[in-house]
This record gives sequence, structure tokens and C-alpha cells, in this order.
Amino acid sequence: MRILIVGTGGTIASARTERGYKAKLSVDEILGLAGIEKSDGVKIDTEDILNLDSTLIQPEDWVTIGRALFKALGEYDGIVITHGTDTLAYTSSALSFMLKNVPVPVVLTGSMLPITEPGSDAPRNIKTALTFAIKGFPGIYVAFMDKIMLGTRVSKVHSLGLNAFQSINYPDVAYVKGDDVVVRHRPALPSGEPSFDPRIEPDITYLRLTPGLSPEVFLTMAEKSRGVVLEGYGAGGIPYRGRNLLGAVSKIAREKPVVMTTQALYGGVDLTLYEVGRRALEAGVIPAGDMTKEATLTKLMYALGHARSVDKVREIMEKNLACEIST
Ligand code: ASP
Repeated sequence: MRILIVGTGGTIASARTERGYKAKLSVDEILGLAGIEKSDGVKIDTEDILNLDSTLIQPEDWVTIGRALFKALGEYDGIVITHGTDTLAYTSSALSFMLKNVPVPVVLTGSMLPITEPGSDAPRNIKTALTFAIKGFPGIYVAFMDKIMLGTRVSKVHSLGLNAFQSINYPDVAYVKGDDVVVRHRPALPSGEPSFDPRIEPDITYLRLTPGLSPEVFLTMAEKSRGVVLEGYGAGGIPYRGRNLLGAVSKIAREKPVVMTTQALYGGVDLTLYEVGRRALEAGVIPAGDMTKEATLTKLMYALGHARSVDKVREIMEKNLACEIST
């Protein structure tokens, strides 16, 4: 059994500096501090790809990580990635779209407290990730605070608490029981030849709908990018009373994709439910369904990396690619 642990930085790799916590430890140093032997029954190899606070992660870094993973897929029985928690859900979603049919478990993890601090959650999270990685369930997952969640379904829901991630609109895949991990939901992920497709379009405007948002602001921001995600309220809809955002949205939606997600954490959008939602659909808005905000953004990047026309992008957005959307 061979496992690769790939380091990209984050709190899990951080130590105290005069200017706050900074990612600087290698994976070998993290394993040493976590008390994990590199040959405890399983042979562990390590590779440091990046060492960044994940606030600094850019879409191009997903391509770097994805390429390294793809190269390692044939050589390992499982892969663990240590990553900052702030953008971990974006990375796990983006990787899930770029890397198809991974034949082994790829498990992202991180920690809320640096491994160098007393009481850090890092050893526990790495152990959970490793225990799940050796189980052999193919797919891209996130291991955090005794849970395994599907990579396309997680969101960071707490900026300080250790239970910082939740699986949104989707069951947890597995949970820790004693020294083991018990699987309780196996996602119906597609299978086939593994492939890596790095084509993504990072140039997206992501805008939160707020009372009073002017059509001018929307147009200025929307015109500057290749696609728009609009984070609406509740089940979704566009205001047309007073400041008429609907007119501006309908103008942009003819030229480029405008996808609507929701500010609510759970439930997703259903634009057929209310009149304000029906108008959005008529204006050409593409509903994000029950996808997370992170999956919505990264899937739109992926879709725009593969299609030019709004209709083709709509088709990709509405299709289930990696259990990210219920159809
Ligand atoms: N700022 C850190 C990061 O995302 C937070 C963490 O890892 O928990 O890299």
C-alpha cells in the first residue's frame, strides 16, 4: 500500500512569525510533528508542491496541483493533500471538474490550528484523511473533524471553530469511529479512463445581490468578465422594482452566462418557485440548483474553458459531472 501526501501550505503547515502565522513547514515536518511514521504499515511518500496561505491560491495553482495528482495516480493507492482551509472547498471542487475518473481516493485536509500550536486539530485531520485514503474508495474528498465529505459538496462554514466544514445538500460520505472510518454514503461518481483537463476560464464576476444594487454597478462588473455568478436571495429571483436589475441581467445573459446561486447555505435555488424567479429564467439566467457556491464558481470556470456559446455553457452547468448537483 503506497500513499502520497502532497503539501500546498495552509494553517496545517504554519508556524508563528512576527507577522502572524505563515505557511512554511514541509509535509515531512508536519508528519513528524503529528507523530506519523512514514512506514507504519503503509508506505508514505511526500511531495511539497506549494507552501501558501490558501488566500493566495489562484486558479492556475489548481492546474499545478491537478497535474501533479494526475502524474501520481498510477503510482499510488491513495493521495492526501494538505491545504489551507480558506479556499480548500474551491480547490476540491475545481480538481473534481479537471480530474475525471480518479481511480483511487484523493483526500484534501487541513487544520484550523497550526500543527505547531498545542491542541492543534492537524494530527487528527491527517490521520482521518490517511485512514480514509487507504480504504480505496475512488473520488475526490475532504477529511475534516472526523468526517469525510465529497469534494464538490463542501463549504467552509466557520472561520474559527474546528468543525469548520459541512457537506451542503448532500450526505457525509464517512465518519470516524474509534480508530477507523465508517463509510455511510457512497457517491455515484462516474467511472472510466482517468483524465486531466486543465482548461478553465478564471475570469468570472461573482456578485452578491443586495437591496439597492444598481443596474449600473452590475453592468460594469459583468461587462469586465467572461461569465457571472449572481448570489441571490433564498430560492432565487431578480429585483425589477425601483432599480431594475432584471433589464441589466437580461442584456448580459444574451452575451455571456449569468448563473444564479443563493446566499442561503442550504437548499439551493429553484427559479420556478416564485414570480421573481420565473422572470429570472425568462431573462436567461442559469440556475445553480443545489450546488455549493464554490462548485458553482469553479464549474462555470470549467464550462467556459470548454464552451463559447451561452447555450453550451448552460448545458454543462445543468449536467451532473461529479455529484455536485442533484438533477
Ligand atoms: N488562512 C489559512 C489558509 O487558508 C487558514 C487555514 O488554513 O485554516 O491557508
